[in-house]
Amino acid sequence: MSDLNENIKKLKKHIDIIKEEGVLNVIDGKLKNSNSGKKFSNYSPVDETYICEVAQSNAEDIDEASSSSKVAFKEWSKTNPATRKKILHKIADKIVERSEEIALCETWDTGQAIRFMSKAAIRGAENFRYFADKAISAQDGLTLPSGSLLNITKRYPIGPVGIITPWNTPFMLSTWKVAPALAAGCTVVHKPAELSPVTAKILNEIALEAGLPPGVWNLVNGFGEEAGVALTKNKDIKAVAFVGESKTGSAIMRQGSETLKRVHFELGGKNPVIVFDDADLDRALDAVIFMIYSLNGERCTSSSRLLIQKNIAEEFISKLVDRVNKIKVGNPLDPNTEVGPLISENHLEKVVSYFDIAKREGAEIVVGGNAHKKPGWFVSPTLFKNAKPEMRISQEEIFGPVLTAITFEDEEEALKISNDVEYGLTGYIWTNNVTRALRFSDELEAGMIWVNSENVRHLPTPFGGIKSSGIGRDGGDWSFEFYMEQKHIGFATGNHQIPKLGK
Ligand code: NAD
Repeated sequence: MSDLNENIKKLKKHIDIIKEEGVLNVIDGKLKNSNSGKKFSNYSPVDETYICEVAQSNAEDIDEASSSSKVAFKEWSKTNPATRKKILHKIADKIVERSEEIALCETWDTGQAIRFMSKAAIRGAENFRYFADKAISAQDGLTLPSGSLLNITKRYPIGPVGIITPWNTPFMLSTWKVAPALAAGCTVVHKPAELSPVTAKILNEIALEAGLPPGVWNLVNGFGEEAGVALTKNKDIKAVAFVGESKTGSAIMRQGSETLKRVHFELGGKNPVIVFDDADLDRALDAVIFMIYSLNGERCTSSSRLLIQKNIAEEFISKLVDRVNKIKVGNPLDPNTEVGPLISENHLEKVVSYFDIAKREGAEIVVGGNAHKKPGWFVSPTLFKNAKPEMRISQEEIFGPVLTAITFEDEEEALKISNDVEYGLTGYIWTNNVTRALRFSDELEAGMIWVNSENVRHLPTPFGGIKSSGIGRDGGDWSFEFYMEQKHIGFATGNHQIPKLGK
């Protein structure tokens, strides 16, 4: 991998182009500014320098994009799945070709370290490949014969869909949502997060170059309260796939109620990693650190609560302190950097506010607990110990490189603490007792659980949360369940008796 200076040089070439072009909307395959002519400025969280202007869209732009998606749906939904497969593979090829540019731009726009973003770009291509292959079976259904009928089921694309993505890993998450929608035969109006619009522009550009017909994927930039709200209320949009905060999910449900929108939500988390005294503690330590301090802790599946058995807590936490103190914070374009800046000043203030909350509540800050000198929105990787389960630092999603350590006596207490939060996205269990692992995972309130492992995504498995962490699942056929409608058709196999009224 290139070093920092080389990366800065390479990035400049790409960012200069983006600065010149700005991030515009793409409607019907054409680049255009918002109809109002309004734009807003986008800055890098790394050094707060200006990146580019971005189209600030409102309901008029959303209506235009939705109408275009409605027209394009007529043809795209009927396009031979083999053609859809070919185009999606072509998109994946082009993502790979431009993966370095994507990684560099994503790093600059979000503050996420290049060591993770280079993999995220490649994962984006894999998402497209996976759903490209699945396009062929998207319509598959069942045969359910009865005495008098041959019943079949078949899936049909639901229509134009709205996709709203967040800022934490915007490129990967956009591919994760858009690829299955296109494979299913839906058309898309995509509104990326206003804080990180750059790589959605690149991705949409790639899709058009790969031969995706105009109008199949319209890109509309802008703020959540303006463009986002309009998208969720638009009558032509049949479903909304949203990744973001739980409270935004509630708002979208209200906004979409008038038009009876189908919704798919991937929301927040306060995920536990539970370490029992019989676990492989060296591997557990690596996983605990990776799952909260990678991606700047701005990760929905991060294990932000460490539940550690009391008899091993002191030694485990002392090793943890040693390692967290050594985490490399710095320019995310440096391949050695492990933690970069947070996305924005607002988000930094939110994360930093928990340092005071922790002290007020009586927890101890054993590592970090401070913001760095400007420029850039950097905070030190932070570890709270002596936390109690009811404290705000144990209950609320902080969404930064901040870990709350809580001790527990036995399995029963660990389970109670794990489940006693409003969220239920992921859980990580570390034990060498297989019976306990089975028992615990059975009772743990989470949509996804890993035993003796960090989060390792396998595309055919269902991804999603319960409680306030989400509604619906992505991955495998679950994605098609959302983007498609089921139809039942019954064929009479003989002359069964039809009730005769009025005879
Ligand atoms: P956010 O909810 O503030 O914003 C997400 C998107 O929603 C943005 O594009 C924003 O413009 C838009 N938006 C905001 N208000 C809206 C409204 N009223 N109507 C329509 N759209 C609106 O979230 P964020 O701060 O960008 O992202 C961080 C959050 O995302 C965290 O809570 C994190 O846990 C969650 N997340 C969840 C997953 C998952 O898979 N469960 C994955 C990544 C991130």
